[in-house]
Amino acid sequence: MTSFLMNIYVFILGLVLGSFYNVVGLRSTEGQSIMFPPSRCPSCGQRLPWLDLVPVFSYLMLRGRCRTCRRKISPIYPIVEASTGLLFLLSFQNAASAGEMLAGCLLSSLLMIVLVTDLSKMIIPDRIVLFFLVLFALFRTIFRLDPWWDAALGSAVGFGLPAIMAVLSRGGIGGGDVKLFAAMGLLVGSKLILLGFFFSTLYGALIGMAGLLTGRIKRRQPIPFVPFIAPGMVTAFFFGDALLDAYFRFIT
Ligand SMILES: [Zn+2]
Repeated sequence: MTSFLMNIYVFILGLVLGSFYNVVGLRSTEGQSIMFPPSRCPSCGQRLPWLDLVPVFSYLMLRGRCRTCRRKISPIYPIVEASTGLLFLLSFQNAASAGEMLAGCLLSSLLMIVLVTDLSKMIIPDRIVLFFLVLFALFRTIFRLDPWWDAALGSAVGFGLPAIMAVLSRGGIGGGDVKLFAAMGLLVGSKLILLGFFFSTLYGALIGMAGLLTGRIKRRQPIPFVPFIAPGMVTAFFFGDALLDAYFRFIT
């Protein structure tokens, strides 16, 4: 297969899985089964034909409204679908090995599911994080980090940093965020989880300040953190090494 076709294939796989992650995210916060019932419009309950379930494409064709009741469809759906497609493509383009490509796809998958749960219900479900924690542990016994114990160290750093921050900020960071970082640390190791935490809080602080200044966010108003953790971890995982290189060349 040519690499062009391979790129298209990886992107489409991401789109389709992104669509599945929307379902997993929404149903896991409502205690529903992931496989049944078939997809329905959340406003009018109309069962959706396959033509309305094509990732991104259906949303654009329907101009963001339900075919039956014309009520608005949340833009989270196409955003998660397109983002998963692009992140899978980035994993494929960026990876030095098959293991690192898989790691990129696994990390993107977890981030997209908890993005849906955090944006819709402001929760990060324990069973989702636990599922990925077990998956990451198995993955890192096969595709080991160098040194191998960096996975455990990464998980400890991923737990420790946001836990300290949670105590200091008195509720600015929730327990779900702490567990999420601990799980991701196991996959990416100590250096990248440190960097990922740095970028997540940086993005959060910048947007938070902008929100306070423009009056769109009130002081002490709880805001979901995953919309900052996702781009923060993506920055660290895909561009962290290049950014660190550039930084150290700049200061020396
Ligand atoms: Zn409807």
